[in-house]
Amino acid sequence: MDFEVGTTRIYNCSVCNVDTPHTVRANRGDFYGIVCTNCNSGAIVHELDLKIYQLKWEEELREILDNLVEQSFGFDDD
Ligand SMILES: [Zn+2]
Repeated sequence: MDFEVGTTRIYNCSVCNVDTPHTVRANRGDFYGIVCTNCNSGAIVHELDLKIYQLKWEEELREILDNLVEQSFGFDDD
């Protein structure tokens, strides 16, 4: 799994103190330079950290989607 420069990834911003979209700006070896789209502060992160976040968010998104599907079936009475 590669993170292309110019794409956006969810990562925890140490300035905003929340998970925010980060734009990938640079890649050197296993490290990526990312910039928070909320406060514009930059960070250097290891590829593994980005991957872990990616997986965590995919997992959470899947749960949210599953809940939405369940809810829409539950309300689909007519
Ligand atoms: Zn930020």
